[in-house]
Amino acid sequence: MDIKVTKNPNPQPKPDENNLGFGLTYTDHMFLMDYNREEGWHNARIVPFGPLPIHPAAVVLHYATEVFEGLKAYRTADGAVQLFRPIENVRRMNNSAERMCLPTLDEDDAMQAILEFVKLEEDFVPHKDGTSLYIRPYMFASEANLGLHGIKEAVFAIIASPSGSYYAEGINPVSIMIETEDVRAVRGGTGFAKCGGNYACSTRAGERAEKLGYSQVLWLDGVHQKYVEEVGSMNVMFKINGKIITPDLIGTVLPGITRKSILEVLREEGYEIEERRISVDEIIEALENGELEEAWGCGTAAVISPVGKLAYNGKVYVINDCKIGELTQHLYDTLTGIQWGKLPDTHNWIVKL
Ligand SMILES: *Cc1c(COP(=O)(O)O)cnc(C)c1O
Repeated sequence: MDIKVTKNPNPQPKPDENNLGFGLTYTDHMFLMDYNREEGWHNARIVPFGPLPIHPAAVVLHYATEVFEGLKAYRTADGAVQLFRPIENVRRMNNSAERMCLPTLDEDDAMQAILEFVKLEEDFVPHKDGTSLYIRPYMFASEANLGLHGIKEAVFAIIASPSGSYYAEGINPVSIMIETEDVRAVRGGTGFAKCGGNYACSTRAGERAEKLGYSQVLWLDGVHQKYVEEVGSMNVMFKINGKIITPDLIGTVLPGITRKSILEVLREEGYEIEERRISVDEIIEALENGELEEAWGCGTAAVISPVGKLAYNGKVYVINDCKIGELTQHLYDTLTGIQWGKLPDTHNWIVKL
């Protein structure tokens, strides 16, 4: 694929690495590619970062036909830049696109787009410990059409944002509220797809939880509101009596790449893993019996987020004295070690620029 590059004539100074936050500043360029039924994907280009022209009747603005990905570029101690399992993001994006009737991408073209774009923006990958360049590929239906009859035009875009360390203040276990009203996914719905709509409908529960002093909600299944599915926008895992239990991927749970990587590491280390439905009752019982040893959320942004408190029906349960568990810490060290090149990449997960 030929990518036409138009350099930004007004490059910006690099942001202060001590105050990056998340998603606050963007790099000098963006990648764009257009799709229509006649030509397929075409006009791959990297252009100066700026607003997108969009028709007021564009399908995405009315019907939320959009999917996205999130991955990071990491700077290693020797100054090189590397990605973590980017092909997994490309494949998941195509699965998400298929669910939303958006066109899929050629895997090689999508990888080339990500790699060439990050290469061009390499200087924006920060150096400070724990920082990274967050990369956001996304795709949306762009045609002007209030009647919805199959997607005829779409845009694939990649933007990137230098991001600070998620744990600038150290890893503190979070307090989680079990959500008993709203649900984020139902059987046959879009739970497995990384699409904006899943986020739009889960914002309310998150905001309610925040008002009550919790940082995220624990989502229950949409049918019985009984089985645990995810925590905020992360996958969730429990260590009960030495065993690792995590919800299986039955269409309502997002297939996280961090989840997959952690399970691979745990399997190698000989842990017993159960991917299955796990009910709130089972978790509460394990908490009351003192058998729930550790619980954590996992996803690209935080890597691992230990759960210190769980609130359910007006009661608050404490996990591991609200301290990070030994295994949680070990998994965090292992994954971040591989990502930032401090540990050997024995799984071939790393793609260097
Ligand atoms: C992105 C996402 C995750 C985590 O996926 P990773 O590939 O590990 O970053 C988990 N749950 C939801 C709902 C997500 O959108």
